[in-house]
Parts: sequence; structure tokens; C-alpha cells
Amino acid sequence: MTPSPPRLTDAGPGTSVAWQEAVDEPLSERLLDDREREVRDAVRRIVAAEVAPRALGLDRTHAFAEDGYQALAGAGLAGLLFPTELGGSGDSTVAYAAAMEELTAACPSTSMIYMTQTHAAYPIWLAARPEVATAIVPQLVDGRAYGSLGITEPNAGSDVSSLRTTAREVQDGWQLSGSKTFITTGDRADVIVCFATTDRSAGRSGVTAFVVDGNADGVEHGRPLDKMGLHASSTAELFLDDVHVPTAHRLGELGGGWDVLLSSVVKSRISAAAQGVGIARGAYVRTLALLQERHGGRLPQEVAFALAELRGAILEGRLLLLTTAREVDRALDPPTADIAVMKQRCTDLGFRAALAAVRLLGPVGDLADTGVERYVRDAKAAQIYDGTNEIQRLLVARDTHRRTEELRP
Ligand SMILES: Cc1cc2nc3c(=O)[nH]c(=O)nc-3n(C[C@H](O)[C@H](O)[C@H](O)COP(=O)(O)OP(=O)(O)OC[C@H]3O[C@@H](n4cnc5c(N)ncnc54)[C@H](O)[C@@H]3O)c2cc1C
Repeated sequence: MTPSPPRLTDAGPGTSVAWQEAVDEPLSERLLDDREREVRDAVRRIVAAEVAPRALGLDRTHAFAEDGYQALAGAGLAGLLFPTELGGSGDSTVAYAAAMEELTAACPSTSMIYMTQTHAAYPIWLAARPEVATAIVPQLVDGRAYGSLGITEPNAGSDVSSLRTTAREVQDGWQLSGSKTFITTGDRADVIVCFATTDRSAGRSGVTAFVVDGNADGVEHGRPLDKMGLHASSTAELFLDDVHVPTAHRLGELGGGWDVLLSSVVKSRISAAAQGVGIARGAYVRTLALLQERHGGRLPQEVAFALAELRGAILEGRLLLLTTAREVDRALDPPTADIAVMKQRCTDLGFRAALAAVRLLGPVGDLADTGVERYVRDAKAAQIYDGTNEIQRLLVARDTHRRTEELRP
């Protein structure tokens, strides 16, 4: 007999702090130091109270997940990677990864907003003049302003060298014109880190990054695109028509946009990988709780085995995420191939684990009220953004080729 759909509270089973603690793995816990665990636990408490109860409703209404994000920002937990003088808490990449996993497990959409604030602030911190960073980064960290990272265009995403948004030098700065698409939080961005070309014939070397005031004359924000998942995070087009950007708002060197991008994607790929692990964990723990409700604690052996498989895969993913994040904290320039392996494996894990969770629940897994099918929809995009997983495989293949080339007979 097909079981009737479970009666759910808003947050649903498996979302409480006690459930999260019950699925913590001693092995990966040992990779966190005391401060990192403290940050993770603080995020966990706010997520249980402010994010998890809203997640299913937001997925249905497509409303922007503002409240959960603002709760984290209000608690000083949305600027983990930034120094205290810029309003952040100066925490490690490992703490950030653990926080992102925690948040994503409850609501991948809220994690999109949270990480995009960091992705917009990070290149500003890295490459802006100190007075520009001091003026802008704190607003992105405490939630007063929303930020976007504007790279993708209708004809350029994976291939950044074919950007068509142009930057033309004028007397007291730059004028930017062009359009961007698939920009997270683009519908409301107050701050846009925008990549534009000053010389299309120069390819990548012609690309420069700028901080654009999202409320300046000539900026038009498109409406949110209707996506398969991540319904409570907006993704929009942006149109720039002779937008004036002051000289001081250029990021890094003229033609140095590619370097700014490369330095920033290390953190954004940590974000995507943490989302993959978080989605897998969220789907797993909710499914475990539902199956225990259904079977009264005595799980059929094939179900227990499938859950054991999932638990092992999630632990593998988290170990890869946290050890790579630790390397990022130790080395300023971690190997591109390591980052690529982590991003691809962890985001593929998220999609596979979400599918496996739905399969385990049978028809109930297909119901929106169960709160598991949304993880499949939400997981898909993480395999696409921050460099598609095909591009990550390409980077790994190139690295393999480079390392073995001279061994060829
Ligand atoms: C939900 C969501 C949020 C996003 N947020 C942002 C954002 O905030 N800012 C931003 O700038 N962008 C954002 N993006 C855009 C995203 O980063 C790009 O869509 C992605 O990088 C792919 O680029 P593209 O769109 O040009 O696709 P394409 O490069 O045209 O890719 C199409 C397909 O071809 C494959 N492909 C491309 N090149 C190769 C190759 N050399 N070898 C093998 N396969 C290849 C790709 O893997 C993909 O499967 C977002 C996308 C989504 C879905």
C-alpha cells in the first residue's frame, strides 16, 4: 500500500539542531578546530530557527529568502571570510565551508544569497583601493546592500574571453555598456562586480573588473528568471547603458580581470562544493527521519544499506571539501586541479544523493510537501555555475596531461 504523505510542520522532520547533531560524523568533526565548530554551531542554531521553517514555503512562492539571510547577517555570521575592519569575523575558509553546508542543508536558496554576498564582496576586498573596500564591503557583510557578480553574458560564460560588455575610458572614469544574464541577486543588486572588455581583440587580457553602483543611471535590473530550482534566490538579467564608473572603482590592473576572477573562483568553488555536500546531507537526514517515522525505527535491510551508502558518500564529500578548504587557508595559490576535483565531485554528489533520497521514499519522495524533491531541482544548478562540471573535468584533464606529458615515450 502506498503510504499517505507525512504531515509536516513547516520545517519538517530532520531539520532540528538535535537531528543535525545526530548525523554529525566524528571523523569530519575532527577536521574543525574549536572556533570553526563554534561558528558552525551558531549558524546551525539560526538555521533551525529562522531558515528551515521558511524553506518549503519559499520554494512554493518563489519569494526572495530575505529573512533567513538577514538573520544570519544580523548575527554577524555573513562575513566570515572578511577581516574585522571590514565588518567581517576573519574566519577560515573551513569555517565558511562548514557554515555553507549547514545553511544549504536547510535551504539551498538562502545559501545562494548568502554566498553571492561573499562572492561580490571578495573581489572588492582583494582588488579595490582600500577606501573603496572600506566603503562597500561592510554593507555587503551586514546585509545593508545586496551584491552580484556579473560575468555571464548571453554569448559568454565558460568562455570569458568572448565577453561583449565594453568599458570605455572617459575623463573621470569609465562608461560600461552591455548586458549580463543569469546573475544571482541581479534583480536587486546595489553593488555589481562587473567584468567588461576594453579591447575585444585582446581576449582575456582585455577583460577588466569594475565595481558598479547598481542604482546608477543606465543600470536596468531584469525580472527574476523562472528556474527549475533555487526558487527563493533570484537570477536575473542586467542591462548597462553607458553607466558611469569612477576611476577608483576599477578592480586591479587594466586588463587584469582574469586574475581577479581566478583569485575569486577559489572561494566561489568552495561555496558550490559546500552546497553539494549540504544538499546531500539535507536530503539524507530528512529521508532518514521520514523512513524512521514510517518503519518505526526498524528499517528494512535494503533501506538501511542504501542509507549507509548515502552516509558514506556524504562523509567522503565533506572530507574532500574540508581538506581542500584547509589547503586554501594554508596556501594562497592552491592547485587549480584540486579545486576543480572538489567542485565537480561535491556538486555531483549533491545531485546524486538527492535523487537517491527521492527513490528511497518512493511516491512520497515525489511530493513537494515531503521536502525532498526540491533538493533534486536545487542541486542541478550547482553543477552548472561557478564553472560547469564539464569545465572542471577539462581543467583536471589538462592538469593530468601537463603532468604526464614528458613521460610519454
Ligand atoms: C542558478 C544560476 C545562477 C548563476 N549565477 C551567476 C552569477 O551570479 N554570475 C554569473 O556571472 N553567472 C551566473 N550563472 C551563470 C553560470 O555561471 C554559467 O551559465 C556557466 O558558467 C556556464 O556558462 P554559459 O552559460 O556560457 O554556458 P556554456 O559555456 O555555453 O555551456 C553550455 C554547455 O556546454 C558545455 N561546455 C562549454 N564549454 C565547454 C568545453 N570547452 N568543453 C566541454 N564542454 C563545454 C558546458 O559545460 C555546458 O554543459 C548562473 C547560472 C545559474 C544556472
